[in-house]
Amino acid sequence: MDFLRPTSWADALDIKSGRPDATPIQGGTDMMVELNFDKGRPSALLDLNPCRELFEYQEIDGKIRIGSGVPYVRIINRLGNQLPGLAQASRTVGSPQIRNRGTVGGNLGGASPAGDAHPALLAGNAVVEVESAARGTRMIPIDDFYIWVRKNALEADELISAVWLPPAEGPQYFSKVGTRNAMVIAVCSFSIALYPSNGTVRTGIGSSGPTPLRAEPAEEFLATQLPWHDPAPLTDRVLREFGTLVSAAAKPIDDVRGTADYRKHALSVLARRTLGWAWTDYLTERKAA
Ligand SMILES: Cc1cc2nc3c(=O)[nH]c(=O)nc-3n(C[C@H](O)[C@H](O)[C@H](O)COP(=O)(O)OP(=O)(O)OC[C@H]3O[C@@H](n4cnc5c(N)ncnc54)[C@H](O)[C@@H]3O)c2cc1C
Repeated sequence: MDFLRPTSWADALDIKSGRPDATPIQGGTDMMVELNFDKGRPSALLDLNPCRELFEYQEIDGKIRIGSGVPYVRIINRLGNQLPGLAQASRTVGSPQIRNRGTVGGNLGGASPAGDAHPALLAGNAVVEVESAARGTRMIPIDDFYIWVRKNALEADELISAVWLPPAEGPQYFSKVGTRNAMVIAVCSFSIALYPSNGTVRTGIGSSGPTPLRAEPAEEFLATQLPWHDPAPLTDRVLREFGTLVSAAAKPIDDVRGTADYRKHALSVLARRTLGWAWTDYLTERKAA
């Protein structure tokens, strides 16, 4: 196996262009497990760690740009106020060691339906920035990024350079069900983001379909039911109907981590719960304003 070490991001793109078979490696928390368990042996590894620009995050024109090499721990420590949904999801990833090395870029690169960043990126309306030496930069809305199980929208010569998100303008939550509290792959997960400025809601479902999913009928239902301008507690009917619609949007299977029926049930609970938390925050913020 060739081990390719670029000297810069431009060099990495040139190498990927000439060697589309080269598999990128960032934190290595997925890749090294694959190699150690002999699940696949790429002809070449392209180490992105020398590309220091990937480790930066910044606010540009009102959006947060997170380089694909930024580890979860920095999102938790530095971006929790601006991106609470993604920070909550990041807190649930693995252990401190995994959060020190693992990245959202790697989660996107692997495109596992169980990856914890995905529901928060869907709810947060992210855009993935990818780049190739031949065609330059391409911005892929998160809704178009996940193609199938572990398959994303990247072309063979492209690498993920960053992910962009608008700072939260309303409450955001992420919650996941696992067999224990830490170091666990999600049985199912859910994220919600409220957008009070235009009265909309976005959602993300994880580990309950071939790809991470949005529950669009549930979002549309909520947008018409939330009393944005005359804030009042939500009725049990709204909470339950939202849970039912989220559950209906999932496409889970039975597997070693849980049955499809259990996942559907758990998602309806996560949806009701996270909506309850988000709406309580919204009411509190309105009162304080
Ligand atoms: C013990 C343990 C616990 C874990 N717990 C969780 C968990 O709770 N939740 C969770 O979601 N994940 C978990 N993971 C999986 C892993 O930590 C995450 O998926 C992490 O986000 C991977 O990031 P990385 O930088 O380490 O990726 P890497 O392992 O370096 O790469 C992962 C994939 O992304 C591709 N890739 C990396 N960078 C790029 C790029 N710039 N452009 C294109 N493709 C790229 C690689 O080729 C590879 O296919 C766990 C892993 C371990 C070992």
